[in-house]
Amino acid sequence: MTIGAKELKKKYIEFFKKQKHSEIPSASLIPENDPTVLFTTAGMHPLVPFLLGQSHPKGKRIVDVQKCIRTTDIDSVGDDFHLTFFEMLGNWSLGDYFKKEAITWSFEFLTKELKIPIEKIAVTCFAGDANASQDLEAAKIWKSLGIPDERIFFLPKTDNWWGPAGETGPCGPDTEMFYFVGTSQEQKKDPGPGTKGTKYVEIWNDVFMQYNKTKQGKFELLKQQNVDTGMGVERTTAVLQGKKSVYELEEFQRIILKIREFSKIAKPSTKQIISERIITDHIRASTFILGDDKKLIPSNVERGYVLRRILRRAIRHGMELGIKENFCSEIAKIIVEIYKPEYPELDRNKRFIFDELDKEEIRFKETLTKGIHEFERIIKQKISQKQGPQIISGNEAFLLFQSYGFPLEMTKELAAEKGFTVNTDEYEKDFEKHQELSRTATIGKFASGLADTSEMSTKYHTATHLLHKALQVVLGPEAKQRGSNITPERMRFDFSWQAKMTSEQIKKAEDLVNEKIKQGLTVKKEEMSLEQAKKQGAMHLFGEKYPDKVSVYTIYDPKTKKEFSKEICTGPHVKNTSELGHFKIQKEESSSAGVRRIKAVLE
Ligand code: ATP
Ligand code: MG
Repeated sequence: MTIGAKELKKKYIEFFKKQKHSEIPSASLIPENDPTVLFTTAGMHPLVPFLLGQSHPKGKRIVDVQKCIRTTDIDSVGDDFHLTFFEMLGNWSLGDYFKKEAITWSFEFLTKELKIPIEKIAVTCFAGDANASQDLEAAKIWKSLGIPDERIFFLPKTDNWWGPAGETGPCGPDTEMFYFVGTSQEQKKDPGPGTKGTKYVEIWNDVFMQYNKTKQGKFELLKQQNVDTGMGVERTTAVLQGKKSVYELEEFQRIILKIREFSKIAKPSTKQIISERIITDHIRASTFILGDDKKLIPSNVERGYVLRRILRRAIRHGMELGIKENFCSEIAKIIVEIYKPEYPELDRNKRFIFDELDKEEIRFKETLTKGIHEFERIIKQKISQKQGPQIISGNEAFLLFQSYGFPLEMTKELAAEKGFTVNTDEYEKDFEKHQELSRTATIGKFASGLADTSEMSTKYHTATHLLHKALQVVLGPEAKQRGSNITPERMRFDFSWQAKMTSEQIKKAEDLVNEKIKQGLTVKKEEMSLEQAKKQGAMHLFGEKYPDKVSVYTIYDPKTKKEFSKEICTGPHVKNTSELGHFKIQKEESSSAGVRRIKAVLE
């Protein structure tokens, strides 16, 4: 039986709808109000609040297909089954069914719907460690369904444990399903899933989310037991069709064919095949990132930097194939054609996608010429100095990266041609420092929600602290900040709360903020350890990753010393609340499920 990606998705959704799951649309690739990851890496991401106990408007059983980006897999791209961008099917139990149903349905879907012979399937279960016990329960269920002991493998946390996606959040043991892609002769001698040289390919993962990992690294039992599953669309389609890699799938072949029109290479070498794969994957991922309605563009920090890196890597591999002209947007055109029926945002944003690709390609080629100049200057200088071994220092390689966008492997290749090597250890250190800096910048941005530091924005920023506390006084401590966005004209404040606020509650919160402004409270900044801040009860953002040393802003009455608000925050803030003027809530509305949004101004 041959089954395409579209059919697989349809079958999956229908199967779980039959088991009373509600379908939800794919969320954005760029997570909403969640600074723990740069991109949505799995279907569970947009569901984190619900896995933590908030009730989902669509009920306790959810099914979807989610767009994912995994930057951790960038280095694996070029192999047969790892992509940077892929689609993930998933079904969830939000405090509803658990292991028995999840495993039974997985088994049924694989063997009855997809008609995979049971002999081709192997599964793995969690072997247990100091934090959690061996998952004998899952193994027993598999066995009862007909998977024999010799194809049930127990593996440690590195394999059979999922999450959290960021530093903190829901996680738990998992059971993974594998499809054997070799012959039955080979299967007899196979070392088994998770071992080097195996021909078992992981296609599906059922995660049993029982724990929440805290910032202190503790595993707390969750209020509810959840199931979170993920099945890769491209990978599963490829193995079902008996393909050796995802790149043999029809849609990938169309992209590769277009690349060959540019490279004019009919019979690529192994090295050239890898270049083709990297270009295919990276431009596909870039197209989906640029096609997201959030309109992210290539830059030198955070998400924009990931986009720049994969795009430049694709361009460089284009050069390796001897492509002279700009080609990225032409490849993207095919990709938009293929995926637009299912992802209309690609069609909606196609001009933006193509323009940004063109711009980045032109930009990279410009700096590339300058960079090559700089590179040659470095080499000449070293040769004239005739010092010992011919080494390009890590600093020099890093400069080439930072100023001219040279990826390390490119510098290494260019160096090798001149008989030089690169001090990669030193480079990595510089690179980490750079990442750390931009990470800190990211934390600052998320924590403050500040787009700029003008006087008005600073005032709004202090107003968010007053509002946050006021909401907790009026509604209760569950009303927690989930995000904020500030411009010099207005503020937006998102917080967790189930119901629409009554006009009375809105008035109370507004009045309380204005009362605190009138009282002329002092805003004090202190530096302290994260631990100390938490001990003092400073409020902090859900899921936020903070550095060890933080700033804490306290708003208090200078006469009575009574504190009104205390928050971990990067600032900046006004010195006294009397500077704020009059606070007015203009709107209270739903932001997303379980999250309300307030728009307010200072008059
Ligand atoms: P692997 O060990 O092969 O990298 P994983 O353990 O990282 O997989 P999960 O996090 O469990 O995978 O994701 C669930 C499913 O998503 C996998 O079973 C697989 O089908 C798919 N998947 C994961 N990573 C990728 C990827 N980089 N490209 C394509 N599909 C993927
Ligand atoms: Mg992986």
